[in-house]
Amino acid sequence: MFDFRCSAGKMSEQQRFCHHHLLLSPLLLPFLSFSLFLAAAAEIHHQNPPPAITRFQQYLQISSAHPTPDYTSAINFLTSFSNSIPSLQSQILYFTPEKDKPLLLLTWPGSDPTLPSVLLNSHLDSVPADPSKWVHPPFSAYHSSDGKIFARGAQDDKCIGIQYLEAIKRLIEEKNFSPLRTVHISFVPDEEIGGFDGMAKFVKSEEFKALNLGFVLDEGQASPGDEYRVFYADRQPWHIVIKAVGMPGHGSRMFDNSAMENLMKSVEVITKFRDAEFDKVKAGLAANSEVISANPVFLKAGIPSPTGFVMNVQPSEAEAGFDLRLPPTADPDAVRRRIAEEWAPSWRNMSFEITEKGPLRDHKGRPLLTPTNDSNSWWSVFKQAVTSAGGKLAKPEILPSTTDARFMRQLGIPTIGFSPMRNTPILLHDHNEFLKDSVYLEGIKVYESVIKSLSSFADSS
Ligand SMILES: [Zn+2]
Repeated sequence: MFDFRCSAGKMSEQQRFCHHHLLLSPLLLPFLSFSLFLAAAAEIHHQNPPPAITRFQQYLQISSAHPTPDYTSAINFLTSFSNSIPSLQSQILYFTPEKDKPLLLLTWPGSDPTLPSVLLNSHLDSVPADPSKWVHPPFSAYHSSDGKIFARGAQDDKCIGIQYLEAIKRLIEEKNFSPLRTVHISFVPDEEIGGFDGMAKFVKSEEFKALNLGFVLDEGQASPGDEYRVFYADRQPWHIVIKAVGMPGHGSRMFDNSAMENLMKSVEVITKFRDAEFDKVKAGLAANSEVISANPVFLKAGIPSPTGFVMNVQPSEAEAGFDLRLPPTADPDAVRRRIAEEWAPSWRNMSFEITEKGPLRDHKGRPLLTPTNDSNSWWSVFKQAVTSAGGKLAKPEILPSTTDARFMRQLGIPTIGFSPMRNTPILLHDHNEFLKDSVYLEGIKVYESVIKSLSSFADSS
């Protein structure tokens, strides 16, 4: 989309130039009036932003940060906006006894309710923001003169939640469009703290089963380039603690199989594995998110003394912790075997604990990923819809972190992570998170095309 503000900045120099040379160059006259028009348009655009921008700002101004996200205000705002859109039905679901974590589910009924439906998901909550690190208060939704809207959640992911609604509003009110398939829009709590009281419980509910989903769109990430990024899988975290025990001894003695020696050998083995994975990335053979990362996060050993550690005793126990991230293409059994046989072998007096933070296989034992090729006709429809809105998709990626998409993929429902933000720095969870107004508005157009195509998709498979 044409960027009004940026051009207006350039135009003012042009105007000065024109002003001085007006009499000398009558040919510049048409250009001058065009410049003035653009400058004026920029002013109006910024001082009287379109209602879609104002609504985005209002949603951003609701304090959604953990540990105290204001779910009530968010639900009230979204419900009242959705009530203004004809044919949208709404219900609020709760999955905790305290009823303090609402989930808003909106439904746009299709003409053939027997066809599997489409779900557009986003989360209500955000990570915390430290106001002292921000140029503008994180819940001010400050709109700068160059079009940036600053707020926690501007990219992750309040933008997509409200873009879904804006796109549907336009399809209904301006295009008079009605869907063949039913479209659902969910606003879920607690994604940023694991989704356990949100999407994790929702997917197990009767209400979820009743949706009969065929395809899901969930959040993605900004793209600094001109192509939209798109994600077909998440990496799953595993937390590994390895522990060595051995005979304690005087610091002066040399003997085999001390706890520290055993642990250090394991650390070496794991470091070699890490190097080999990292080398694939450095050689350009794989993206960061396509390899298994294994990063040391703690070391625990030694006997504390008032001044630090006792230096003349070799301890009888030593521990180390590692954060592993596994792509869905990794074989979890092979990794478990490697840990047991090479990283913490019992013959070296070692034991281990694995905390698997997420699944790598779906309910049928298949890798937890959504195919992005012709075998998945939803993918083809989605891709075509982005293209016809003037967008281009980058090569599909594995998200380095995790999202609620894993819960739907686990049920075997094709789920794509997509947030239409291009030419935008990646600022999720960062200070001064912002989204440009023009990028936001362009995203609504992309969703108009995507929602229209997905909900018109007649293939009954
Ligand atoms: Zn998010």
